[in-house]
Amino acid sequence: MPKSKSATKKGKRGTSKTPSRLVVVSNRVPDVKDGRVQAGGLAVALEEALQNEGGLWFGWSGKTATGTPGEPKETEVGPVTYVIMDLSRKDYNEYYNGFANRTLWPLFHYRLDLTSFKRTFFSRYQAVNELFAEKLAWRLRDNDRIWVHDYHLIPLGECLRRRGSKQTMGIFLHTPFPAMEVLTYMPAHRALMTALSAYDLIGFQTENDMRAFTDYIEHEAGGKVTKSGKVEVFGRKFRVGVFPIGINPSVFEGPMDPKDLAWGRKLREQHGEKAWMIGVDRLDYSKGIPERFQAFERMLERYPGFRNQVSMFQITPPSRGEVAEYKEIRHELETSAGHINGRFADIDWVPINYINKSYGRDKLTLFFRASRVGLVTPLRDGMNLVAKEFVAAQNPSDPGVLVLSRFAGAARELKSALIVNPYDIDEVAEAMARGLEMPLDERRNRREEMMKVIRSNDLDNWRDTYLTALAAAHQGD
Ligand code: UDP
Repeated sequence: MPKSKSATKKGKRGTSKTPSRLVVVSNRVPDVKDGRVQAGGLAVALEEALQNEGGLWFGWSGKTATGTPGEPKETEVGPVTYVIMDLSRKDYNEYYNGFANRTLWPLFHYRLDLTSFKRTFFSRYQAVNELFAEKLAWRLRDNDRIWVHDYHLIPLGECLRRRGSKQTMGIFLHTPFPAMEVLTYMPAHRALMTALSAYDLIGFQTENDMRAFTDYIEHEAGGKVTKSGKVEVFGRKFRVGVFPIGINPSVFEGPMDPKDLAWGRKLREQHGEKAWMIGVDRLDYSKGIPERFQAFERMLERYPGFRNQVSMFQITPPSRGEVAEYKEIRHELETSAGHINGRFADIDWVPINYINKSYGRDKLTLFFRASRVGLVTPLRDGMNLVAKEFVAAQNPSDPGVLVLSRFAGAARELKSALIVNPYDIDEVAEAMARGLEMPLDERRNRREEMMKVIRSNDLDNWRDTYLTALAAAHQGD
């Protein structure tokens, strides 16, 4: 059973003899129910490291408090302590929905047209990071290693350093990192980059992202970067590195629950012999879903032989529904799917099955395996795990084909996908048609090539490589 307790301010500083703990900080912390962590993918990999080494996972509870939030809640599961805190409504609006989701997210995804630059958002972002630092600092031990995740928490390291924290600290940015010219549109760019320099290691998904960062350091901030990734800037020394995040492929390859298999068979029977194409994306403007719908429409126009033969499934769980831009894209997609279905549907054929709900991993695996083509066409994406999951889920003897945007981090690794520019509607339509008609040998070869990369750089490898680099990175050594 997990032990819940309210926190007391007796920090355990630890000594050089105290075993080193891992401290993970992320905007959201997985739920702990009945002594078990309810999580998938990334959370499982981090959880495994925490369980092996002992440690702490700190972050937002996902809840807002009426009035001022109370002290964080602690839950222990084995050697791991989960510490979660609520946010006030104002913090939620201006830090989470504000600076994180209406400034950094669109800016980092090159959507200047959707980026909001409000000073109140930035000051609340700093205030929430300061609050997190206050609640975390006294819980830290001297020889802890701190691993911060993502763009919500960039200032956290600096806030901790101001409070005297000398521990090794790293951050990993799951999103893309924008080119210098894009980043400098944001008035607070220098403050944000100075805050990043408080870490000992900054991890990026791709070489491109890291290059964008070092370009800023050299050409905007007047710092120095060596070939091996040592950076000197703002009076600090630290390291940068590329750590493309992976998946655990066996989870998508392995045997399935018989109930899910029966569900999959029934679903397939309902749709007869028609070929499927599938997209699975959170409802987000970075994912390129409207352009994908247009490409499907273009394919049906240009290759009429596919009419009544191919159905597209677009599984799109809603996200960030309180942000206006997300309401707009939802409306746009409903209109577009309705238009395409109105134009082409027949009594026995729905061209686009647009589904606004979330599925568990086993059902997604069945969707992936039943599809001849996987459509991963974001306009910009840090990595895109769905691309890797689609490939891993395929039947090795009769695999489907991945159509992949060159602007997804995954395109740097999955070079045997059909790589497209998602803005080029004709090119994506051609890739869809090519995927649907690709001979078996070519499909097998392409999947095998991609599986080599997916297996060799799996999620555990990603975690271990980052943590090894972090251990070596203290103060830019
Ligand atoms: N996902 C899921 N159920 C769904 C849709 C997505 O479990 O209905 C998972 C998907 O399998 C993947 C993750 O959500 O592991 C999305 O990660 P990705 O990197 O593709 O995009 P993000 O949402 O992080 O931008």
